[in-house]
Amino acid sequence: MDSFIQQVRQKAPPLAVIDSVDVEYLAPVKYDSFIIRESQGDKTKYIKISPDVCTCNECIAELFNPSDRRYRYPFINCTNCGPRFTIIKDIPYDRKNTTMQNFNMCKACQSEYDDPLNRRFHAQPNACPVCGPSIFLEDMNGIIECQDPIQKTIELLNNGYIIAIKGLGGFHLACDAENDDALKILRERKRRTYKPFAIMSASIERIKEYCFVNKEESFLLESFQRPIVLLKKRRNIRISELVAPNNNYIGVMLPYTPLHFLLLDCQILALVMTSGNISEEPIAYMNEEAKERLGKLADYFLMHNRDIHSRCDDSVARVFQGHQILIRRSRGYAPYPLDLDFSMKQILACGPEMKNTFCLTKDNHAFISHHIGDLQNITAYNYYVESIEHYKRLFRINPEIIAHDLHPDYLSTRYALEQKDVRIVGVQHHHAHIASCMAEYGLTDKVIGIACDGTGYGTDGAIWGFEFFFADYKSFQRYAHLKYIPLPGGDSAAKEPYRMAISYLYSTFGDDFTNLDIPLLKKLDKNNVEILKQMIEKNINSPLTSSCGRLFDAISSIIGICDIVSYDAQAAIELEMISATSVQESYNYMVVDSKDEKPILIDVSDMIKNIVHDLNRNTPKSIISAKFHNTIVDIIMKICEK
Ligand SMILES: [Zn+2]
Ligand SMILES: [Zn+2]
Repeated sequence: MDSFIQQVRQKAPPLAVIDSVDVEYLAPVKYDSFIIRESQGDKTKYIKISPDVCTCNECIAELFNPSDRRYRYPFINCTNCGPRFTIIKDIPYDRKNTTMQNFNMCKACQSEYDDPLNRRFHAQPNACPVCGPSIFLEDMNGIIECQDPIQKTIELLNNGYIIAIKGLGGFHLACDAENDDALKILRERKRRTYKPFAIMSASIERIKEYCFVNKEESFLLESFQRPIVLLKKRRNIRISELVAPNNNYIGVMLPYTPLHFLLLDCQILALVMTSGNISEEPIAYMNEEAKERLGKLADYFLMHNRDIHSRCDDSVARVFQGHQILIRRSRGYAPYPLDLDFSMKQILACGPEMKNTFCLTKDNHAFISHHIGDLQNITAYNYYVESIEHYKRLFRINPEIIAHDLHPDYLSTRYALEQKDVRIVGVQHHHAHIASCMAEYGLTDKVIGIACDGTGYGTDGAIWGFEFFFADYKSFQRYAHLKYIPLPGGDSAAKEPYRMAISYLYSTFGDDFTNLDIPLLKKLDKNNVEILKQMIEKNINSPLTSSCGRLFDAISSIIGICDIVSYDAQAAIELEMISATSVQESYNYMVVDSKDEKPILIDVSDMIKNIVHDLNRNTPKSIISAKFHNTIVDIIMKICEK
C-alpha cells in the first residue's frame, strides 16, 4: 500500500498535477472490478482545464517513422500532448465537448482510446489519417491541387512568399526569416514598421547559430508550454535585421505542433511566425474569417478542418538572472489557474484596456485569462466579452463582485459598469499591478510596492505611473511618486515621445528652453514646439502625469533615439538597447519630503539639466542612456530605504 501511494506521486503521467494526496483507511468494500466511469456533468462541479501541450517525444518519433500509421500526420497526439484549451467548448473534457466532435474515430483509433494500457487511452483529440482532420493549401481562389501541401508550403516559403498557417490558437503569418524582401513586404502589409516579430527554428542547435542560449533558456524553450523566449542576438547572423530592428534580442520558439515539426523538417534556418492579424486586432482563427481578414496579408493559406474554439496567442517569456519571467502568459499556461493560500469570493476582475487579460476567482484559484490584447476596436471587445462568458461556463463561476480599472473610458470599465445585480468595485491600476505581483509570489504581508508603468488612472484623476505604495491586497497608501508634469496631448503623447521631451525641457529650463543647443530642437518644427508650449502653459488637453514610461520617452527623444513610436514602448526599448552596461555613474535628482501626510516627490529636473549638459559635451548616447537607467535604479533604492 505504501509503495502504491508513493508511486501515485512518482510515476504520475507527464501532465498530471497532484495538488494533494490524502490517505484514509477503509474496511474492504469487496469491489469485483476496476472501471473508469463516464463523466456525469454536474452543473456546479468544475475541474482545472489543461492548457495546450506541445507534441511529445514519443509522438514525434512516430511522426517521422515511415512504418507508423501516423507517419507525417500533422494531427498526431496522445494523452501526454496535443490541443486542449483551444478545442474545449465545455466540461466535462470529453470528445463531444470539443471541436473534434465531428470526427468519428476509426476502429484502430477507438481501440487505442479504450485501452487503459495505451498511450492514447482517453486521449480526446485522438485521430489518424483515416478518421481525423486533414490539411490543405489555398490561395484566395480556392484549394491548390498538390501531392503534399506541406512540401509545397516549404517550397513557397523558400521562394519568399508569405503564408498564413493555422496553428493551435490561431493563424500565424510565416515567411523565411532570412529573406529581407519577404520581411519588407510583410511589414508593409501588416502595417508594422518596427515591432519585433517572433521566429521559430527546428532545434536549439539551429537557434544557437543566431542567438546565445544558456541552460535556463534551453529549459524554457523546451518546456511543454513552448513560449516565445527573448534571446540575445549574436553578431553577423543570417537572420534578417528586419525581424527585430534596433533590438538586441529576438523572440524565438521551438515547434509545438506536429505541423510545425513537419514544416521545419527542411533547410530553413528559421521562420517568422507572427500573429495573423493587422496591427493590434485579435488573431484570426477560423478558416473563412482568416481568408477575409488576412487576404491582403498572406499569399497562401495552409489550413485544416479542425476548428479552434478559443483563440490563444503565443506566450512570451525571458530568463533574468536564472529566473523565468513571463511577459505574456497565454498559450501553454492559460487557463491553468494561479493558486493562492486563501479562499476568495467569486470575482470577475475586468483588466485594463491595453494588453488586456481578465481574471475570475473561485475557491483558492485565480483563473487568469489568456492574452486578449488591446480593447480598442469592436472585434477585440467582442472577443473579450465572449472569452469572459467562456471562462464563466468552463469553471462554473457566477461573479458576486466585478472589479474594474478606475479609468472611466476603458471599454473594460464600461463593460463592468453595464453588468446588473452584482457589486461593482473600482480598483486603482497600480494597486492591481502590485496585488497581482503579491499573488504571483504568494505574499500576504504589507509590502513596499513599486510600479514603473506607462499609464494608470489615479484616485486624483492624474495619470499615475512611477509609484511607491505601502500596500496589501485590500488597500494602499501612496508614499512617493515622480513629480507631476503636463502630458501635452494626453494619450497621443505616448505615441509621440517628443511631446514629453518638450514638457520636461520646459519644466526644467522654463521659457528659455527653445534656446538650448540640442539636436532635438533643431529637428522639430518651430511652430509645433510653440503649439506644445501653449498647450502646457494654458493647460489645454495636458493632464498631469507621474508616468515612468513617459519619462523614458522624454529621455529617448531628448538624446535623439526615438521621437515617434510605431509600437508600444518602442522609445524605452530602443533607449535600453543602446545602454553601455559598464557605466557606473548616475545623475542627480531631488527627493522632496514635505514631512506632512503628502506623498514624497521625486524631482528629476537636475537630471534633465545634466543630460543636456552631457549632450553639449558630445557624450555618447550609450553613456547617457546608462547613466539614466542607473538613476532610475538609484531612485528606487533610495525611496525604498526611506
Ligand atoms: Zn504525444
Ligand atoms: Zn483513426
